[in-house]
Amino acid sequence: MFSFKKLKPLAALIALPVAAAVTTPAQAAEEVNIYSYRQAFLIEPMLDAFTQETGIKTNVVFAKEGLLERLEREGRNSPADLLLTSDFGKLWDAVNKDLTQPVESDVLEQNIPAQYRDPDGKWFGLTSRARILYTSKERVKEGEVSTYEDLADPKWKGRICTRSGKHNYNIALFASMIQHHGEEKAEAWLEGLKNNLARKPQGNDRAQVKAVKEGVCDIALGNSYYFGKMITNAKNPEQIEWAQSVNLIFPNQADRGTHMNISGVALTEHAPNKANAIKLMEFLSGQLAQYMYAQENFEFPVRPNTPRSNLINKYMGEFKADEVSLAEVAKHREQASKLVDKVGYNN
Ligand code: FE
Repeated sequence: MFSFKKLKPLAALIALPVAAAVTTPAQAAEEVNIYSYRQAFLIEPMLDAFTQETGIKTNVVFAKEGLLERLEREGRNSPADLLLTSDFGKLWDAVNKDLTQPVESDVLEQNIPAQYRDPDGKWFGLTSRARILYTSKERVKEGEVSTYEDLADPKWKGRICTRSGKHNYNIALFASMIQHHGEEKAEAWLEGLKNNLARKPQGNDRAQVKAVKEGVCDIALGNSYYFGKMITNAKNPEQIEWAQSVNLIFPNQADRGTHMNISGVALTEHAPNKANAIKLMEFLSGQLAQYMYAQENFEFPVRPNTPRSNLINKYMGEFKADEVSLAEVAKHREQASKLVDKVGYNN
């Protein structure tokens, strides 16, 4: 009934040696089923490496929407073992709907810093990403904007572009503003930012950088890895030009650091292949997979001492990340969503 997408053999892109590259024949039931909000091509290389190392097959169902609802509907009959997401909001929702179960693993605890995992082991971050400012090289001077708080300054009236205020990436940032400043100040800030928007929120993060290139606005909010995706985009070379038109600003370097989000994983409540699923979670937090995430996706590995991609090092260098616990920030997501409505952010 469920058409799991068969994964292609490992592409020749691993720069690190795969331990135990000799594949042992997989037994019939040795598999892990994954419901993924992350696009399949982003995770295939790591899953292939896992199969190569362990002989355990992986099956992926990818969807942009509806996977939590599907898990809920299927209940204990669900074939899914793991949920993969591209933001911590969806993980949080899964936990709140009791769709996950706790995992106790020394490997996961060692590989993943505390601020990027649930204290109860119900979700784990696998990669991190910064929500940064893309500013016009031509129209924004160095040092003119250096914090998220600056975005509410009336001097930027009509000069900022963002995607929908309801998107998980923005909800997470707004929730972190509530965490740091309290709801009242966060609301005033959000209203200030809304008043500075050049246009009604629309499009994805990359579309905001395009708008900067085209002169629609001077500052865009976007996740850090999109810079890597754009500047290397041989298929859509116009995106290289978008990326070349902006400077990258990591906000709040002088105080708490830049807001971070994660892509992550959770074990489903009724995982039929629990032991193998935990093996895969551990593998994804391990040295090889973390290295691949950095090289292929331009994300930041969560595992300490994993090298970042050269391209990211070249353009981004070291920066200070906000170390507030995402589990704490997550508690303000609903408030953040209500504030978006209250200030009419998307109108
Ligand atoms: Fe994204």
